[in-house]
Amino acid sequence: MPRISCVNGRYIRHSQAGVHIEDRGYQFADGVYEVIVVVEGRMVDEDLHFARLERSLREIRMEMPFGVDVFRLKVAELLRLNHLRNANLYIQVSRGVAPRNHQIPDEIQPAVVMTVRPLAVPKREWVKDGVSIITVPDIRWKRPDIKSVSLLPNILAKDVAVRDGVYEAWQVDNKGMVTEGTSTNAWIVEGRSVITYPPENAILNGVTRLALMKIAAEAKIKVEERPFSVDEAKGADEAFLTSSTAFLIPIVDIDGNRVGNGKPGPVSRKLLEGYSSHLWSSDA
Ligand code: PLP
Repeated sequence: MPRISCVNGRYIRHSQAGVHIEDRGYQFADGVYEVIVVVEGRMVDEDLHFARLERSLREIRMEMPFGVDVFRLKVAELLRLNHLRNANLYIQVSRGVAPRNHQIPDEIQPAVVMTVRPLAVPKREWVKDGVSIITVPDIRWKRPDIKSVSLLPNILAKDVAVRDGVYEAWQVDNKGMVTEGTSTNAWIVEGRSVITYPPENAILNGVTRLALMKIAAEAKIKVEERPFSVDEAKGADEAFLTSSTAFLIPIVDIDGNRVGNGKPGPVSRKLLEGYSSHLWSSDA
C-alpha cells in the first residue's frame, strides 16, 4: 500500500509529493508548521495546536489557509488513505510560490503540506532509565516562539548531541540560562516544584508544556515559570524534557554530571503517568 501525502488539497503518493522550487518555504524558510500526535483518529490537544498554528501564521503576517474544521476533514481523509488510526501528523503552511524576491508578494496562495507516519513512541529504555543531554549555546534568532520551519540552529545543535552519543542538547542563552532543547522544552524539579522557562519570545510554548502544567496543577505539583541556569539544572533533584512526540523523558545526566541519584525521579514519573492518561484517554 503506497504512502499518501496531501499537497495543496491533493492526495498523492508520498514518493511523488513535492512543491515548486520557488516555494518560499523552500527558498526562504518562509513558513510555519505543527507536529501533532493522532491517537485513535483523534488529534491530541488539537485546540492548542491549531491556536499555535494560527498565532505562528499571524506573527509572520499570514492567515490560516482554512478553518480548523477543514483541517480536521483533510486529516481524517489522509489517515483513511494511509490506513492509520495512530500517527504522527506533520502540517506545514508556507507563504507559497513566487519569483524569488525577499519582498513578500501581495497576491500569493499559501502552500499546505500534510504528511502522516505510523505513531512512533519513545523507546522504553529512555523512559525507564532516563537519557543524557549536553548543553550548547543558544544561537537562534529572537523569535523561537514562532514555530518556523527555519530550524538550522536546532538541527546543528541536535547534530552535536547525536555525535556526542546523547539524546538532546539544551540551548543556553548568553546569561547562562537554559532556554529549551532543540525540539523539546526543558524542565527541572526541586522538591515538589517543577521549573521551566517562561513563555516569552525565547522559547516555543510547547503544547505538551501547556498540557503538563495543567496535569501538574491537578497533582498539586507547583510550576514555576522562570529561567534556570545550567548549574541549577546540574544540582536539581530531577530533570526532564517534553514534546508532542517525546511526551516526557527523564534526564539523568547533563554534560556528564549525574542529576539527582541518576535515576528518573518521583515527580517526573508522576507527571508522565498523568500525561500518559491524558494522551491515551479521550479527554485531550
Ligand atoms: N521547543 C522546540 C524548539 C520544539 O521544536 C518543540 C517541538 O517541536 C518543542 C519545544 C515542544 O513543543 P510541543 O510540545 O508543542 O511538541
